[in-house]
Amino acid sequence: MNTLLSSVNLAANPAALPSNIRNFLRIGRTGNDSTTCAVCHQSIPPGKQYILDAYGNATCMSHEVRSCCICGRTIIGQSFEVPAYGYACGECGKAVEYEEIEAIRCKINDFYSRLRIFIPGYRLSLRSAADMAQTYSQYFDRPPLGAAWKDDGSTEHRYRVDIMSQQSKVSIGNTLAHELLHLWQYHRGVNAPKEYAEGFCNLGAFLYTASVDKGEALVHLSRMMENRDKHYGVAFRQLKVLYDVYGLGAVIAAMKSFT
Ligand SMILES: [Zn+2]
Ligand SMILES: [Zn+2]
Ligand SMILES: [Zn+2]
Repeated sequence: MNTLLSSVNLAANPAALPSNIRNFLRIGRTGNDSTTCAVCHQSIPPGKQYILDAYGNATCMSHEVRSCCICGRTIIGQSFEVPAYGYACGECGKAVEYEEIEAIRCKINDFYSRLRIFIPGYRLSLRSAADMAQTYSQYFDRPPLGAAWKDDGSTEHRYRVDIMSQQSKVSIGNTLAHELLHLWQYHRGVNAPKEYAEGFCNLGAFLYTASVDKGEALVHLSRMMENRDKHYGVAFRQLKVLYDVYGLGAVIAAMKSFT
């Protein structure tokens, strides 16, 4: 159960709606609080149009602001160029360090272990946006945030995962949770059509991200639910329906039918 939602008894106390849920749903402030522009710090009078992101940042329509290519937040202050991806906010633009991703990796491992999904050993590389764009230009129009590989031959590290380092921690978790289920499929000899291979990885990423108690998690989850891609969106939602109705066992059984 999602701790974010389960920790709030909305029916008993609607006023306790946490700000991250309120911001995500773009529910305005209650009472007579005025809205202040995050760029010019002027108050925005009632009735005037403004931009409100899913994090509660309001900005006047007159400012030319960008949305972060990773978390979707309106970029206020310092922005980071992420080559081939766009511009990122201060939170997402700094490259994640190995110690930071290690903590996330452990959380994902625990999460999958509790679901009895066991991930084989692998080598993890954090790579810059420019490096990802160059390496993957032959496979994708837009460089991926992560990629999982099975090397042929008997090298020590048979499986490896590349992760683009300029991401927020929530986004890194979502990306890594996706890539690890590719390794699970390689290791189990699951050879599913691309839509189910990607859809299954996205289902795992969705379930893991739903366990992350941050407003940004909601943004990633809703983006996944809206994805129009036939692999990452449509097939993912088909597997999610299967999961919602019959549970994870049915999804795993379906994936194992592709061995
Ligand atoms: Zn303003
Ligand atoms: Zn961001
Ligand atoms: Zn994938």
